Amino acid sequence: MDFNALDHPYFMREALHEAEQAGLAGEMPIGAVVVHAGTIIGRGRARHTQRHSEIAHAELNALLEAEKHIHDHIHDGIVLYTTVEPCVMCLGAVVMSDVDHIVFGLYDVNIHPQQMLAMPYVRRHIRDYLGGILVEESLELFKRFRQQDVPFFSLSSAP
Ligand SMILES: [Zn+2]
Repeated sequence: MDFNALDHPYFMREALHEAEQAGLAGEMPIGAVVVHAGTIIGRGRARHTQRHSEIAHAELNALLEAEKHIHDHIHDGIVLYTTVEPCVMCLGAVVMSDVDHIVFGLYDVNIHPQQMLAMPYVRRHIRDYLGGILVEESLELFKRFRQQDVPFFSLSSAP
C-alpha cells in the first residue's frame, strides 16, 4: 500500500461524519474509520453517554467493528482515521489491532505520544503518524457541540 497516495481528506470526511453524528447525539464530537485497500472496514464514534463508559472512544469502537475483518484477512496496510489525536488507550489498541498507519485531525494538547511512539515495540507497528488533516473541520465540531473542550485541542503539534 502506498500511504502517501491515499486520499486522506476523503476518509477524514467520513470520520468527521461519525463525529458530527456523535455530537448530535450529545456525545463528544469524535469519529473514526478504519480503512483497508480503499474500503472502510470499521466505523466508530464516541459513545460515552450511551454506553455509560469512559472507554467508549471513537477509535476503539471503529477498531472493534473492524477487528474480525482484520483478524481473518489482513496483515498490513490498515489505516485508522480519527478526528482527534488518539489517547494512550486507543494508541495501544491500534498497535494490538495490527493497524499500522494513523491519520488524525486535531492535536490533543495533553497527549505527548512521542515517548510511546519511540518505544521499539510501538515503532515496529506504527509506520505513519500523520496529524492535521481537515483540522479546521474537526475544531468546528467542538465549537458547535463542546465549546468547553476547545482549549484541550490544537491545530498544530505542540512545540
Ligand atoms: Zn481514545
